[in-house]
Formats: sequence, structure tokens, C-alpha cells
Amino acid sequence: MIVGNWKMYKTIEEAKAFVQRVAPLITESQGRIMLAVPFTAIQQVAKLVADEKLSIAIGAQNMHNAEEGAFTGEIAGRMLKEAGARFVIIGHSERRHLFHEDESCIHKKVQRAFQDGLQPILCIGETSDERKAGKRDEVLTRQLVTALKDISEESMASLILAYEPVWAIGTGDVATPEDAQEVHAFCRALLKKLYSAKIANALNILYGGSVKPDNAAALLAEPDIDGLLVGGASLLPESFSQIVNTGVS
Ligand code: PEP
Repeated sequence: MIVGNWKMYKTIEEAKAFVQRVAPLITESQGRIMLAVPFTAIQQVAKLVADEKLSIAIGAQNMHNAEEGAFTGEIAGRMLKEAGARFVIIGHSERRHLFHEDESCIHKKVQRAFQDGLQPILCIGETSDERKAGKRDEVLTRQLVTALKDISEESMASLILAYEPVWAIGTGDVATPEDAQEVHAFCRALLKKLYSAKIANALNILYGGSVKPDNAAALLAEPDIDGLLVGGASLLPESFSQIVNTGVS
């Protein structure tokens, strides 16, 4: 599973041009390819992907936690779904830190995503200071337990978890495969306790943070790394397709 997160990049025309350029570069794959595009591009890119019969799922990078309401400038999950989004990223560190989304807000968004029929990609990750202070596991546990409160086993079957250490996002400072594997195994063990071995083993846990074509293979070789969440390197068809094709081989 390779997920591109375009953040606030690409107009509709740029997004469509990307999809047209990337399509012939991607090897036929059993894995899942997903692109979290800007809100404005969802509808047209989803249509393009459907028309061209490409197996790329289109999704959003954020949503509000209410069904609808007087929330100027916000967007509801059902609007995203209607536009063609199949999934939504929730709790990205840029939302947590730049837009002050707290853990209760993220929990409500996870619940709302399920209610609105969107597959949530829940992002968790510690900051550099938290890691240095030896609080990595404590922070990840808190983020996971809070976000997943009252989320049913049935819903968990479609949730995707992304471990994105904040110090690795957009910095070029990728986690080592061993380090990421240790955290993924820790999260899976925690989910076994919270749910069951069946749920924990079936859950896709992605790594994100400075993934590039030259480090993707080593990360994907780890047993508990089920896929990658890619920011910067998902913006260019060449680097994104190289990462996708790494996942195939
Ligand atoms: C991200 O935005 O989720 C991300 C991982 O970014 P980058 O790959 O650029 O570090």
C-alpha cells in the first residue's frame, strides 16, 4: 500500500497531468495505490482515474468532525465522499501542530469518517523532543488509545494506521528500517491488547517520513511495515512511480 500525500500542492490541471504521466510508469500491482489530493481536485481526478480504469484510490487530507453545520471554511466527510474520495488522512502532524488539532478532535474525526463511509488513515508520531525524553512509546500509546476509543472491531477492519515520526516529516531524516519496524511492532502489540490478534495482524500499518525511491525498499522489507505514506516524493510522477514499483518487486 503506497499513499501519496500532496499537501497544499497541485491545481486541478496539475493533478490531472500528474495522473496521466504516472499511469504508464506504474507496474501492474497487487498492492493498493492511493493519492490524497487537495479538495478541489478530488472530483476531477477521481473521474479521470475511473475513466482510465486506473487502480488508484483518491482521497482527502482532512475533514471536519461534524456531519454538517455552521463551520465556515470547513468540509464534511459526506461532501468528500460525494466528490469521489474513498479515504481521508486524519491526525497528520501538520494538522496536529500547525492547526492545533487535539486528540479529542482527532478521535471525533475518526468516528465521523467511518459514519460518512470514508476509510480513515490515522497518523500518529512523536516529536524529536518526546523521543529524546524517552517518551516515544508513551506518546504513541496515548495517541492510539485516544483516537480509537469506542471504535468497533468491525470498523478497525478498514482503518489504516500510519506511523509518522514528526522529526522525519519533510526533513530528509528518515527513520531507519529497524527503528520503524520496532515502532510498528509496538503498535501492533498494543492493538492486540486493545482488540485482538486477528484485528492487529490484519491492520495495515504504514511508515511515513522522508520516504524516497532509494529508501523505500529497505523499509518495505520489514515484516510490520505494510506500506508507505509519502509526502514530497509523491509530487513527481518519476519518484512516486519508483516507490510504487518498489512495492511490487
Ligand atoms: C507526509 O506529509 O505525510 C510525509 C511523510 O511527508 P514527507 O514524505 O515529505 O516527509
